[in-house]
Amino acid sequence: MRIIHNLDEMTETARGWLAGGSVGFVPTMGSLHQGHISLVQAAHQECEISVASIFVNPIQFEESDDLLRYPRDLSRDLQLLSTTNIDVVFIPRTEDIYPTGFSTYVMPTSSLWAVQPAKGTGSRIYTRGVATIITKLFQLVRPDIAYFGRKNAQQITIVRQVVRDLNIDVGLRILPTVRESDGLALGSRNHFLTQPERQAASVLYRALLAGKALVDGNVRNCAEIEKAMMDLVVTEPLVNLDYVKVCHSDTLSSVDTIVPGTMLMIAAHIGKVHCIDNIIWRGGTNWLL
Ligand code: AMP
Repeated sequence: MRIIHNLDEMTETARGWLAGGSVGFVPTMGSLHQGHISLVQAAHQECEISVASIFVNPIQFEESDDLLRYPRDLSRDLQLLSTTNIDVVFIPRTEDIYPTGFSTYVMPTSSLWAVQPAKGTGSRIYTRGVATIITKLFQLVRPDIAYFGRKNAQQITIVRQVVRDLNIDVGLRILPTVRESDGLALGSRNHFLTQPERQAASVLYRALLAGKALVDGNVRNCAEIEKAMMDLVVTEPLVNLDYVKVCHSDTLSSVDTIVPGTMLMIAAHIGKVHCIDNIIWRGGTNWLL
């Protein structure tokens, strides 16, 4: 496992790979868990060279407190990565990624950010931050395939848009959400939850399953499904619901009637932690959970 901090060294290394085998890339913000590791393992299995990056991207945070509070534990991350077969861990320094004078941002100008449901994960700042950092990381690492978890639907929509619009030559692989046994999606900030908050947090997945049960029972009216999900979440006073949204998984635009490709999304603040989750109906009994 080789660790690269320096941007020129990353560029040189990536150039050396051009004639060689395929490069699989897993961008992360660190504080790694099994969700991240599942992506690393897929990259290792499917590509000749696997690379993960660890970079807490300051420009995608709307509030400086949130950035300061973001969990960082590099030695634990490296220890966890050393149990995988990852070839390279790229850990750029913030001052190298955004040096003094940095002034070029990538900003999807479609209605992408405007249709996002909530502050924190869907705002204009977040969209611009994700679009900019992913473009820079793709430039530096030059991956053939980039790996993302399905959990962060907004991130995926932004990355897809940027790759398409800027003709970036990379394939995107979207992998399932890794969950705790009660269904809570693993997240870097989950360990900030107190014990009662942690217990209450399972309501997010239960609400998604309540929506699923209605769809499975042939309900197609989105308002009815959203209401059933919200009614369940309010039974947990520790959970502050940000939104429940039934939308199309490609565009994240709201829909009135359930069709194959519809996503049930949920986001809430639980204590200091912002939790997001989603499931997608593919039609019939086919769900991406
Ligand atoms: P982050 O470090 O939060 O920026 O996440 C890095 C990547 O890991 C993103 O593609 C996320 O979608 C993915 N990821 C985060 N949590 C999970 C999870 N529970 N299961 C699968 N992938 C995840």
